[in-house]
Amino acid sequence: MNNSARFATVINCMDGRTQLPIINYMRTKFNVDYVDNITEPGPVKVIAEQSNDFQLRSIQQRVMISQDKHGSKHLALVAHYDCTGNHVEKNKQIEQLRKSLETIRLWGFKGMIVGLWVNENWQVEEITFNR
Ligand SMILES: [Zn+2]
Repeated sequence: MNNSARFATVINCMDGRTQLPIINYMRTKFNVDYVDNITEPGPVKVIAEQSNDFQLRSIQQRVMISQDKHGSKHLALVAHYDCTGNHVEKNKQIEQLRKSLETIRLWGFKGMIVGLWVNENWQVEEITFNR
C-alpha cells in the first residue's frame, strides 16, 4: 500500500446512484485520493433505530478499520432522495441523519464527521445541525 495515499470514510446507501456523486464530492471537499465505502440499505435508518446490533457493530468496525488502517480523518454519513431501503419523507430522513450522527460521534472516530444529502438531481448537499 502507498502510505502517502489519503483516505476518507463514507457510510452510504448501497444504492448505485449515490456512489459516484458522493465519492467525487468527498475527493474534492476533503482533498483525498480514495474513499472507503461502507454501504447498507438506508444507513441512517439502521443507525438511528439501533434495532440490529450486529449490523451496527459491523458498520462501526468498518469505520474503525478505515481510521486505523487508512488514517481517515473525514467521515460522511449519507441519506438520499428515493431511498428504497428507507421509504420515508426527506424531513424524516434528515431527523434520522441527525440522530445517527450523534451515535457515530460516540464510536471513537477522531476526525471530522459530516451529514450529506443526495437530492433528486443526484447532487450532494451538506446538512448542518445546530448542536
Ligand atoms: Zn437508499
